[in-house]
Amino acid sequence: MKRGLLFSLLCTSALFAAPPPLDDVTRQLTRDIYKQLIEINTTDSVGNTTTAAEAMAARLKAAGFPNADIQVLGPNPRKGNLVARLRGSTREKPILLLAHLDVVEARREDWSLDPFVFTEKDGYYYGRGTSDDKGMAAIFIANLIRYKQEGFIPKRDLIVALTADEEGGDYNGVSWLLKEHRDLIDAAFALNEGGGGRMKEGKRLYNGVGASEKVYVSFGLETHNKGGHSSVPRADNAIYELAEGLVKLEKYQFPIEMNEVTRTYFERMSKIEDGSTAKDMAAVAKGDKAAAERLSQTAVYNALMRTTCVATRLQGGHADNALPQSARATVNCRVLPAGSAEDVRNTIVKVLNDPGIDVTWIDRPKPSAPSPLDSAIIGPIEQVTNEFWPGVPVMPLMATGASDSLYLRNAGIPSYGVSGLFAEINDSRAHGRDERVGVAEFYESLQFLYALVKRLAS
Ligand SMILES: [Zn+2]
Repeated sequence: MKRGLLFSLLCTSALFAAPPPLDDVTRQLTRDIYKQLIEINTTDSVGNTTTAAEAMAARLKAAGFPNADIQVLGPNPRKGNLVARLRGSTREKPILLLAHLDVVEARREDWSLDPFVFTEKDGYYYGRGTSDDKGMAAIFIANLIRYKQEGFIPKRDLIVALTADEEGGDYNGVSWLLKEHRDLIDAAFALNEGGGGRMKEGKRLYNGVGASEKVYVSFGLETHNKGGHSSVPRADNAIYELAEGLVKLEKYQFPIEMNEVTRTYFERMSKIEDGSTAKDMAAVAKGDKAAAERLSQTAVYNALMRTTCVATRLQGGHADNALPQSARATVNCRVLPAGSAEDVRNTIVKVLNDPGIDVTWIDRPKPSAPSPLDSAIIGPIEQVTNEFWPGVPVMPLMATGASDSLYLRNAGIPSYGVSGLFAEINDSRAHGRDERVGVAEFYESLQFLYALVKRLAS
């Protein structure tokens, strides 16, 4: 009996590729990498992602990766990207592990501690980029070194890409790599930021997996007028004309449209929420329009169910004592992934119903087809999630913002936001002050991604 039990335990762990326990050496290595990344300033204004990419390249070389499998490259000396490869045993298409090296600006005077000094305090790691996105970058590098040191040979190549200018700047690393060195990062699918677990007062609610993103596009609304002296107002006025158009737009709502990701999201959330919200979520997942209307009173749910367009900037006139010759507003839209920005523009024109208001493109949309909830990928994510946090559901997410996954999706590489990094649901500090990640949660994410990537690659 005993031998049988031991045997089956061994088989189970081999089958599930459970991570080795977190020993002090691994913990220290990962912490050192994380600290090093946080303390290299990688902001667009004064930072340098090349320095960070080279530091990670040096660590991989020291761990025994051949020079040929590690590259630091980019279109600008300050905007380098790292691409590293762990060779697999077959020619099956690789798995890409993507994290961005650049971070949002952070000013010392806005923070309670130095954003570019890695600080451990009260059970958290603080620093700009701890959550967005240097945690994942550090974890991918540490796990690649672990795989190498234990002699793990994946079935397919594992590629780690740490890239520049996700947050802004002119040298987006993913888009540049796809254009100039597609062979280096070409993959069957990618794991990226955009997911993560959510907790409420320490209780794990769900492990989120980003599978889809809305599409960003902005329009300029502009009116023109002869103008003149403001002591003799005319019946027509550029500011009033624009204002009337904006009021019409304010009152208009795009239709509710659900997709695979949002339907699954509401269906699973209905089991986590309670009361009338839970009931409405379950009904929405089944197509109930009245429930959708009720849920859409909450801004975040509204943004998941429909395309939104909202006025974000306004300017007009040229002097206090002159009739305005022009007025202009910016309207920022977030288009559902299945929608078309061209259709959204046509709808705006129709709603304004005023040929005097020009509607121009401020930027061209970058469409982003949802990545399928493919069981070959979602299945292992669910299994590993259940092994780490029994009973915690995997939650497919559609982001209302965009990440670098859009470039990969457009290039035909399905991308999934997954980290297993849990944070309190009301404690999102990415891009804000005192950005932080829980120490215990960070190492759980390290172990989770270790196991998940191994399973996907075996
Ligand atoms: Zn990010």
